[in-house]
Amino acid sequence: MFSEEFRQAISSANSVMILTGAGVSKESGLDTFRDAGGHWSRYNPIELASPQGFAADPKLVWEWYSARKEKALAAEPNPGHFAITEMEQIFPNFSLFTQNVDRLHQKAGSKKVHELHGNIMSAHCNNCGLVYMNEIDITQGLPHCAVCGGYARPSVVWFGEQLPEEILEKAINFTKSVDIFFTIGTSAEVYPAAHLPHLAKESGAFVVEVNPNETSFTRFADISFRNPSGEILPKILNLIKEVKSYG
Ligand SMILES: [Zn+2]
Repeated sequence: MFSEEFRQAISSANSVMILTGAGVSKESGLDTFRDAGGHWSRYNPIELASPQGFAADPKLVWEWYSARKEKALAAEPNPGHFAITEMEQIFPNFSLFTQNVDRLHQKAGSKKVHELHGNIMSAHCNNCGLVYMNEIDITQGLPHCAVCGGYARPSVVWFGEQLPEEILEKAINFTKSVDIFFTIGTSAEVYPAAHLPHLAKESGAFVVEVNPNETSFTRFADISFRNPSGEILPKILNLIKEVKSYG
């Protein structure tokens, strides 16, 4: 089922970069923003995930993130997450960047995960930036910073906010030098992350897309798989093992 071209690319590759997005989490039962459903579908995403929304109603925003955190903690990684974890162990030069905030890659055993959009397990002071880990319990009222008294907020990147500069810079540098670039479960519509697969292509990488739906990037990919990641990534992993051992 795999082309000779793909086998060749794997055979000669030393470095691999993976960019993951919401589709990978969705396969573990974690809904994307747009189809969160239920109670939360009554709200505009800007009310729940923006600096303005937090300023207007911090309690509402914390309730939304607490609900998502509970769901994320209860979710399990899928075979796609685990395949990525194994790929990390095979390639000497490997880098994983995710737009997901649920920490499922870490739960699957990935060692070095670069979080482009932060994560919902951590919080920091909205005023002074001090970081709070696992100390937030909104049943005791809204969390305040012990040092400056400001509100603590979830450590995620909100609408209208910049991605963490250092991580984005790392992503760009790695993208420019990588042999194979995988874009997995991401709609390729939200910039700047959506630019990375294009940059990889321009820089000479072999670019593989995995997405059940066609995206605006599909026609630029060297190969595009129309499958769920939990289905195709274990097969790609087997191919990698085969090629790397006997190639
Ligand atoms: Zn503070």
